[in-house]
Amino acid sequence: MYIHTAQLRPLLDSRKEQTLEVVLTSGRFSVKASVPHGKSTGSHEAVALPFQEALRSFDRIHKELYQEDFSSQKDFDMFLSQWDGSEDKHVLGANTMLALSIAFARLMSRERKQEVYDYIHQEFLSRVPSAQKKSPYLVANLVNGGAHGSFSSAWRSQFHVSPLSFQEFHVIPLVDDVAVGLGLIQELYSKLGRKLSSYFDDANIAMGDEAGFSAPFDSPHMVLDIFSDLIEKYHYPCGIGIDAAASEFYKDGMYLYQGKEISKEELLSEYVHIIDTYPLLFLEDPFHEDDFASFSELFEKVKSEDLLIVGDDLTVTQLPRVAEASKQGAVNACIVKPNQVGTITEVLEVVSYMYAHGMRAVASHRSGETLDTFISDLAVGIGAWGIKAGAPVRPERSVKYERLVHISE
Ligand code: PEP
Ligand code: MG
Repeated sequence: MYIHTAQLRPLLDSRKEQTLEVVLTSGRFSVKASVPHGKSTGSHEAVALPFQEALRSFDRIHKELYQEDFSSQKDFDMFLSQWDGSEDKHVLGANTMLALSIAFARLMSRERKQEVYDYIHQEFLSRVPSAQKKSPYLVANLVNGGAHGSFSSAWRSQFHVSPLSFQEFHVIPLVDDVAVGLGLIQELYSKLGRKLSSYFDDANIAMGDEAGFSAPFDSPHMVLDIFSDLIEKYHYPCGIGIDAAASEFYKDGMYLYQGKEISKEELLSEYVHIIDTYPLLFLEDPFHEDDFASFSELFEKVKSEDLLIVGDDLTVTQLPRVAEASKQGAVNACIVKPNQVGTITEVLEVVSYMYAHGMRAVASHRSGETLDTFISDLAVGIGAWGIKAGAPVRPERSVKYERLVHISE
């Protein structure tokens, strides 16, 4: 397939920060793809260039794009990677590469009269012949703390407590029907809102970066108690998840946890206590991004089929780090964020490695999002265990859920 035109345009993400979108046309079709931005980014992620810099590189590559007859996703992505030529994608920028890679996938699927998730699935089958398409479990972030929290100065002076150290608190409906799962999340979200109004002044309840609630909780236990009470009271078939994003509260070998400096051993005991007390299914980035050993220690202690210990900043959707995590027995699942690595081909390569090594995949949005829904198609196409898309109450999050429901229908 020949690319006829390629355009790079600036766009604001959900945090009103500049990101980018690509428009590609073939002879017959025109498609768009945009990319999100993280805030609590792992330091080993591929490099995203600011828009103006990205545009300078794009100006150098885009005419070359018209000269090749690309026969496959691999072909196109390889062209991008070779043109970039760097380990960390700083020449073309992982953000531009991903937007191009997704747009190319959309063009190819239009040309082949396929849905994008089918196209991705077919690409994936060449690596994992036994792969199945399926709807993922919804890992919905309803309370936002850490770097994603939104805290008014009013509540700080009123309550004298620290913001939540952990970044995300999820509910996870354990149902196979994605529309039913979404309905449960919506119900829980409304009930949670009413419950929080009974604890806090409404002026102190805000919306965090991923559309979950931010409020002056006195500890993570308060959030987990409220979640467990709601789940129990209404018999919701749901588990609970946490993304600690621990690199964000790590400094000089210690963790500043709920306003107190604690060691990694103390933090590990806190996780064991949480796992013993609550129906926890999912624990992401419990330790600093380079501390594979503490992940392994925790994993060994709490090992169970029913609990995912998940790498995000630890593994950054990149093969060498996922391989290291596997070698050290650090995790049994990894977050899959396409913009941490740059192209769809690399994403499929790393997910096939995960599956071959007994790990589960959880496709994920970023905290600064756009209306692009590629991660929903990706999650279905690779048969991911789960997807993180925030709380389904703002367009940039809701569209991901809606796309999943549409696919399942
Ligand atoms: C995360 O840490 O899982 C996340 C989505 O946050 P960010 O996009 O800010 O890295
Ligand atoms: Mg994370």
